[in-house]
Amino acid sequence: MSFTPRPSKTAPDTAIYDRRESGVRTYSRSLPRQFDKAEGVWLHDVNGGRYLDFLSGCSSLNYGHNHPVLKQALLDYIGADGIAHGLDLHTSAKQSFLEALEEVILAPRGLDYRAMFTGPTGTNAVEAAIKLARKVTGRELVVAFTNGFHGMTLGALACTGNAGKRSGAGVPLSHVAHEPFDGYYGPDVDTAALLDQRLSDPSSGLDAPAAILVETVQGEGGLNAASPEWLRAIAAIARKHGALLIVDDIQAGCGRTGGFFSFEGLGFTPDIVTLAKSLSGMGLPFALTLFRPELDIWSPGEHNGTFRGNNHAFVTAAASLRHFWADDGFQDRIARLGNLLEQRLEQMAEEHGLSTRGRGMMRGIDVGSGETASAITQACFEKGLIIETSGSHDEIVKVLAPLVIDEALLGAGLDILEQSISTELAPAASLSAAA
Ligand SMILES: *Cc1c(COP(=O)(O)O)cnc(C)c1O
Repeated sequence: MSFTPRPSKTAPDTAIYDRRESGVRTYSRSLPRQFDKAEGVWLHDVNGGRYLDFLSGCSSLNYGHNHPVLKQALLDYIGADGIAHGLDLHTSAKQSFLEALEEVILAPRGLDYRAMFTGPTGTNAVEAAIKLARKVTGRELVVAFTNGFHGMTLGALACTGNAGKRSGAGVPLSHVAHEPFDGYYGPDVDTAALLDQRLSDPSSGLDAPAAILVETVQGEGGLNAASPEWLRAIAAIARKHGALLIVDDIQAGCGRTGGFFSFEGLGFTPDIVTLAKSLSGMGLPFALTLFRPELDIWSPGEHNGTFRGNNHAFVTAAASLRHFWADDGFQDRIARLGNLLEQRLEQMAEEHGLSTRGRGMMRGIDVGSGETASAITQACFEKGLIIETSGSHDEIVKVLAPLVIDEALLGAGLDILEQSISTELAPAASLSAAA
C-alpha cells in the first residue's frame, strides 16, 4: 500500500476556535487544517487532503493511527460493556495489562519493577517519580539536565529547561539543579565527571540530590542522544551519591529508540522509569511510573487521583505489547528503519553542511535556526508531510515517523523533507539552477 500525500489547499473555517478555544493552542496553528480521520501513517482533512504523518501525535502513535488490532480490541471491550472509568479498582482490563507488562516486557528483560498508575499524562508520571524519590531519600533536590523536558505541572516543569515553558509557572520553580547534559560544552568536556566532582565537594554548593532525572535522548530539547558511557557514568554517580536514577522514557521509550525501553543494552538499570505517550498504543491518555519494589513505600491513596488507570488504554496497551513485543520482529524492523533514516539524514546534512541528532527512529537534522526550521516544516506541510521542530531555538527538524511505516513511504516522506531543505536553504542556488 503506497499512496502519495495529497494536501488540500483549503484553509478551514476557524471561527469557532478563534471565538472559543484558548490562545494556548499550538499545533493547530502550524497545521492549519481540520482533520477528521486517520489510519496507519495517514491523516485526512475534511477537504479530502491526505497527509503523511511524521509527527505521530508527538510520538504517542508509534504504532500508527487506529492500528486494526488495537482498534478491534477496544471495540470488543466497549461492545461487551467493559468498565470505562479510571478509579484504581481491580478490573479484568488492568489484570490483562499487568500480565502483558510482566510477561512480554519485564520478565524477558530481567527487570523487576512495580507499576504505579498515575494520572493519565506524562507529567503525572514524572510528578509521581520525583515525589517518590524525595520521599524515599528524605532529600529535596532533583538534578535534571540542560534542554530536558519533563512536563508542565509545577514539579515536572521545575525539571524542564525551556524558558518559555518555565515562564508560564507564575511561581518560583525550585528544588531542581539543571546540570549540563552530555555534550553540552562540546565533545571534549565530560559533564558527568563535572557533576561527580561537584557532588563530591562538600563546598560546591550543590546539595545531595534525591534523584537524577534524565532522558536518554532529549525529545523536546533537540534530540540530543546521550552516549552509553555518559549514561553509565550518570547511573554510577547516582548510586555513589545515594540518589535514585529516574529515566524519563516518555518519548524515547515504547520502541522509538529501538527497544521497548531506551536504556536496554546500555549496561545500567534505572531505579525509576516513566512511560506515557505511546504506552496505550492508540494515542489514549495513559501514563505509568515503574520502580524497584523496595522503593514502594507509598501508603494507600497517598498519591491519589480520579483517573489512575484508563481501562480503555489498558486494553489497547495490552494488545500493543502482545502484538508488537512478543518477539524480536518489531525491534529488528525499527533497527532497519532507523538505519535508513540515519543514512538519509546524514546525506542531507552532508549536502548542506548541517548536522544530525538522535538515535533509532528518533532523529532530526539541525538546520541552524528556528526560522529556517519553521520554513522547512511549512514547505513540507504544503507538500503533504506533517513534521515538527524541536530544540532550544526550535532549530532541529525532527522525524517522528510511525514505527509501522514501510521503507518506501519513509523514503517518500524523506524525499519531501530533502526537497524542502534544498529549497529553503539554497533559494538563490536553486533559482539560478532553474533559470
Ligand atoms: C511529552 C513528555 C513529557 C510530558 O508528557 P505529557 O503527556 O505531555 O504531560 C514528559 N517527559 C518527556 C520526555 C516527554 O517527551
